[in-house]
Amino acid sequence: MTELADRLEAVQAGVRDAAARADRDPTTITTIVVTKFHPAQLVRDLHALGVRDFGESRHQEAAPKVAELGDLAATWHFIGQLQSKKAKQVAEYADLIHSVDRQSLVAPLAGARVFLQVNLTDDPERGGVAPDGIEALAAYALEGSLDVLGLMAVAPLGAEPRAAFATVRSLSERLARTAPSATALSMGMSGDYADAILEGATHLRIGTAITGNRPVQG
Ligand SMILES: *Cc1c(COP(=O)(O)O)cnc(C)c1O
Repeated sequence: MTELADRLEAVQAGVRDAAARADRDPTTITTIVVTKFHPAQLVRDLHALGVRDFGESRHQEAAPKVAELGDLAATWHFIGQLQSKKAKQVAEYADLIHSVDRQSLVAPLAGARVFLQVNLTDDPERGGVAPDGIEALAAYALEGSLDVLGLMAVAPLGAEPRAAFATVRSLSERLARTAPSATALSMGMSGDYADAILEGATHLRIGTAITGNRPVQG
């Protein structure tokens, strides 16, 4: 618990520091603690330390975990790749879904609060819509009554994260033509959240820097 509190505090200090460098108000930045692969007890420990936003990436793991933690006042973020046939079930427990990347997810997610995930690599396996498909997907999502909050991205391996996040920021300006209120940016993980804050991130998804190493890799 002490180590967990220390790591949480270190990240919170890092967020404040990067926000100060960016001349931003740190209270406009939400830190989502990614608890995938960790037991429900870790979520309870984090909640006792004041964390309210949690991220999960696999439906088969998240559904029972969220159910088990139904007594906690928490906001659940689904950040993993989404199967179309599971999307409706995910929307039942996830407050926000960060990984909408294709039209077939729109109908099952009607009414949900979402981010559109953009793929910054050439590898379609990575998930995310290609940058030139963002506006069409946004228009379709709005028509399907999704509440589009903004863009989500993962910095590509081996790329300079700050440059990747700058690209997301400029794509977000383009998105604003289709969806003027979709200004949020879900980007920044354990290793690159400071760069993400410097490029305007509003939602950080931070796992290991706070939780320590994940027990099993699935
Ligand atoms: C696991 C995961 C994270 C957190 O990664 P860390 O490096 O542990 O901070 C963030 N975003 C997504 C989409 C993830 O799957």
